[in-house]
Amino acid sequence: MGKVSKGVKCSVIGCNEPAVKSIAAQRIPSSMKVEASGRRVYLCEKHYKEFKKLTKKERMVEKWRYAGV
Ligand SMILES: [Zn+2]
Repeated sequence: MGKVSKGVKCSVIGCNEPAVKSIAAQRIPSSMKVEASGRRVYLCEKHYKEFKKLTKKERMVEKWRYAGV
C-alpha cells in the first residue's frame, strides 16, 4: 500500500474526497464502484475503511473455502 501525493482524489465513483491510500486495482472488491485509471486505485479515508471491511469479509469466505466447507 503506497502513500498518496497531495491533490489526488478518491477513485470511487461519485466521491470527491482527497485520497489517503492507494490500492492495487485488482484488490478492489467488485462491489466497490471505482474508476480505475491504470493499475492503482485511490481511496479516501471513508472508502478505505469500507474497502477493509469488504476485503475482510472476502478473506473469511476464502478461509471457509480452503477448509473445505
Ligand atoms: Zn471516497
